[in-house]
Amino acid sequence: MDQIEDEHHLRTAAVHEGEPRTAIEGSITMPLFPSSTYVLGNPEEFDDIRYVRLNNTPNQKAVSEKLAALEGTEAAVVTPSGTAAVSMALLAHLEKGDHVLAQDHLYGGTRKLMDSLSERYGVDVTYVPAEEPEAWARALRATTRVFYMETITNPLLEVAPLDEAVAFSRRHGLVSVIDNTFATPVNFRPVGLGFDVVVHSASKYLNGHSDVVAGVVAASHERVKRVRKMMNLLGVCLDPHACYLLQRGLKTLPLRVPVQNANALALAKALKKHPKVAEVRYPGLPEDAAHARARRWFKGFGATVSFLPRDGVEVAERTMRELRIAREAPSLGGLETLVCRPATTSHAGLPDETRRGLGVADEMIRVSLGVENPEDIIQDFNRALGS
Ligand SMILES: *Cc1c(COP(=O)(O)O)cnc(C)c1O
Repeated sequence: MDQIEDEHHLRTAAVHEGEPRTAIEGSITMPLFPSSTYVLGNPEEFDDIRYVRLNNTPNQKAVSEKLAALEGTEAAVVTPSGTAAVSMALLAHLEKGDHVLAQDHLYGGTRKLMDSLSERYGVDVTYVPAEEPEAWARALRATTRVFYMETITNPLLEVAPLDEAVAFSRRHGLVSVIDNTFATPVNFRPVGLGFDVVVHSASKYLNGHSDVVAGVVAASHERVKRVRKMMNLLGVCLDPHACYLLQRGLKTLPLRVPVQNANALALAKALKKHPKVAEVRYPGLPEDAAHARARRWFKGFGATVSFLPRDGVEVAERTMRELRIAREAPSLGGLETLVCRPATTSHAGLPDETRRGLGVADEMIRVSLGVENPEDIIQDFNRALGS
């Protein structure tokens, strides 16, 4: 899988979808409309009045169209963060007393959000091991409404039996929701497997330049309408300037991701051979536990690699400090290679016991590969580990 085929013609969609068909003042690109409010037409209901908070102004609509085309859904709506995409997708489909099944290995912020929903808002959550469909069935209640998963988990980079999760959801009338941030639609389109709702942190690969915080919920017209109503109710909207930047970033998504995939595979292979590395996790390695599923469903294996240096936290810290190209920072998906220790970043909010129980070791380093030359990156890591 060296070269990603453009099977869904994503390169064409990324450039042209959501762009004005009739050029505005001859502009080839979608202009920025910062106006908060618009001349009143003939609104049929409140949500039709054009206003930024109501998520229906030109830049919000344009970028949403592009995102729906990329994910292969009927519709999409942009949110002011990935976290807002997760919370809006959940709240739009849940009521007091409802129950959520969620994969136990989740993005730290999502897990905190779910815990808070259950502690404060009367929505129960059960975390289930992704590998045990019998446990899903045992956790099922009459009130279960949503099954929530992630395509590739952070930072262990596991791939759940996604096909079984979809079948299970259908059998029991659950809305299947998946966070596709780590894969991107270039590597995997969840609606192809039958997922109902796709969420993203667009702050990562979708925007791709580490300069926007945003999210997206992509689904059928009907479901996106529900999500938009919830956003309008709670006052959740993405600013037109951020929409404009995200729209610009998306045009190169299908160019960036294959390069980042290839860099990740090259680094994973190099780390695997390094004497000071105890363990490497990357779904692209043939011996990786996630490999078989990733190969079956994905066009590429993603651009995140996690590894354990042999001699504990101090060595991990020193290695990160010694890197010259890769920078130490949380987040991922940008053009620049970043490293972080999940124990002190994405999973810092969890009690140590819970975190270790999930398999996130103190010394684990997560690498988000950028688009630099892979030889430079490998050399950077070899030198940092070796010193
Ligand atoms: C970063 C991230 C989020 C949260 O997104 P923000 O844009 O930072 O709010 C949610 N899910 C995953 C998988 C992420 O990586």
